[in-house]
Amino acid sequence: MKKPKNAVYMKQDNRKHILNIIHGKQISRADLARQTGLTRAAISGIVDDLINQGIVIETGVKDSANGRKPVKLGLNVEYLYALGVNIRYDRCIVGLSDINGSIIEEDVLDFSEIKNSDEGIRLIAASLRHIIENNINAQLILGLGISSPGPVDIYSGVILNPPKLEMWRGVHIVEKLKQEFDFPIFLDRDAVGAALMEKIYGKGRKYRNFIQIEITNNGIGCGIVINNKIYRGVDGLGGEFGHMSIDFNGKKCRCGNVGCIEGLASIEAVMKNLEETGLKADNWPDVVIKSKDDEVFVEVIRQEARYLGLGIVNVMNLFELEAVILSGEVVFEPYLLITELRQFINQRSITRDMKTIDVLVSEKDYNLHSVPSATTVLEKFFSGKLMEF
Ligand SMILES: [Zn+2]
Repeated sequence: MKKPKNAVYMKQDNRKHILNIIHGKQISRADLARQTGLTRAAISGIVDDLINQGIVIETGVKDSANGRKPVKLGLNVEYLYALGVNIRYDRCIVGLSDINGSIIEEDVLDFSEIKNSDEGIRLIAASLRHIIENNINAQLILGLGISSPGPVDIYSGVILNPPKLEMWRGVHIVEKLKQEFDFPIFLDRDAVGAALMEKIYGKGRKYRNFIQIEITNNGIGCGIVINNKIYRGVDGLGGEFGHMSIDFNGKKCRCGNVGCIEGLASIEAVMKNLEETGLKADNWPDVVIKSKDDEVFVEVIRQEARYLGLGIVNVMNLFELEAVILSGEVVFEPYLLITELRQFINQRSITRDMKTIDVLVSEKDYNLHSVPSATTVLEKFFSGKLMEF
């Protein structure tokens, strides 16, 4: 028989559960009781503790006429903050967010002329210090989340060997920044932060299981959410959708395999292929614009949908997810791409006769901001890993 949970742990679980419900929406005590199945007294006890700790505040105003209007509960956005550092190949975005993921201040550092990681780290540290001094007491910082294109070693905090990021290869970025700051510092793949943002604030809110695929000029990133949690694999190296092979006889990829999706469907690969076949387009938006009166470019978009679709069907058949959310440069006027993709996936998936897999476009380009990086800190906070509630 399963051993009953210790009462202390049960209380912590209930607090975590309640805090996670309040994260993202304002809710009354009565609705909390309905949603969790806990008694009103238990809810009041937990909520009062969270209010005393300063994490939660009452946001609605009581109706003085009859006193029956429920007071809503929300997160105290002036209580805790998270910092984010988003490393791109030519720049770095440094920022501060509140506990609801709203940007307070953000700074874009141009790294196109910087060739040395120590110089890069000095600039990042100076920018972080400046942002903290400008806005808040450093005691209120939950932590700093750094994100970089993968692969990265999330446990030792080392950027491994992402393409186009030569100067960051093998850099112990977490250790180096820990010499400058006292708060917790974490490193994650950039696509993980983007999928977390999608889960908490974006189109992923309504799904427990989905895949978020980001197709940019620099490659293909992916985050997988399973049972409301990011799936990272053993060492944080999982979720490499771009390196799923879809062509046994395909070109050799830098990852060691052949026929990877990234080598066929990344925007860089599409542009290279166009050049080789004598077609001219400046970038993906140009392909989309040209497709309006040139059938050849319509076929380029259809081909892109087939490449992505093959990989997505494999993922769907393996994990039985509910939705695919696309983001990045590829979602410029995406009607044709999405229509083709939706059809391809729902014709070939093993569940095609039972359900429809949703194919959606993200509302935000997370690559351009520091919040997804900071969101990895919020994820740890809301799962109770940074402090006891
Ligand atoms: Zn590969």
